[in-house]
Parts: sequence; C-alpha cells; structure tokens
Amino acid sequence: MSPCVFCDIVEGKIPAKIAHEDHLAVAFHDVSPKAPVHVLVIPREHVADLDAATPSQELLLGHLLLLAREVADREGLGNGYRVVINRGADGGQTVDHLHLHVLGGRPLSWPPG
Ligand code: 5GP
Ligand code: ZN
Repeated sequence: MSPCVFCDIVEGKIPAKIAHEDHLAVAFHDVSPKAPVHVLVIPREHVADLDAATPSQELLLGHLLLLAREVADREGLGNGYRVVINRGADGGQTVDHLHLHVLGGRPLSWPPG
C-alpha cells in the first residue's frame, strides 16, 4: 500500500474531484476547502516538498505554477486569488507530497495566521 495519499490520488486509488490532468501534473479540489475555490496542484511524480525539488525539476516547477494560474482562470478567479506552498511543520504542511494551493472566491486576509 502506498504511504502517500496524493500518489494514491494520482494513481486513481483514492477518488478526488479532478480539475485538470496532464503528463506532469494533476489538479484536484481540496477535500476540506478553506475558500469557495480551493484546488491543489501536484506533480505526478512524488516530490516530498519544495526542499526536495532539484534543479533538474525546474521545468516541472514552472509547469505547476502556470497550471495554478490556468486553474485560477478556469475557476473564474479574475478578481484575484492566492497560490500557496506550505513547507514543513512551521509552514503548516500536513501532506508530504509537494502541492500548490490555489485559493479564491472571497477576499483573503493577509498575513496568514
Ligand atoms: P497542507 O496542509 O499539507 O499544505 O495541505 C494539504 C491539503 O490536502 C489540506 O488542505 C487537506 O485538506 C488536503 N487533503 C488531505 N487529504 C486529502 C484527500 O484525501 N483528498 C483531497 N482532495 N484533499 C486532501
Ligand atoms: Zn506522493
């Protein structure tokens, strides 16, 4: 059994509301949304967190960021949105598979808690 819930989503072992899939990435709606729109963008391959990404994954990281923008556009977030990567305990990371949160659909306060 895979120890990674997001790898399980990539492999279709755990259901998720998929927003987009391509050869490098998957975007799906967060199971516990923190805003009217809350989509997670993840690489297909397992990368534990931002610190685990290597220079050879530069194109992958750019792909994820552009996909986050595309998701925001498709979700109608023309009024604004936020893209967040939590890293480590103090960053609030709870799933150890790199993911970008795309949040929007309401005004988002700053700074985060
Ligand atoms: P983190 O706290 O690591 O930055 O974000 C992890 C996110 O993954 C959380 O917002 C959490 O609600 C979401 N999440 C955890 N498990 C699942 C799941 O099985 N399915 C989906 N769709 N989202 C999940
Ligand atoms: Zn994984």
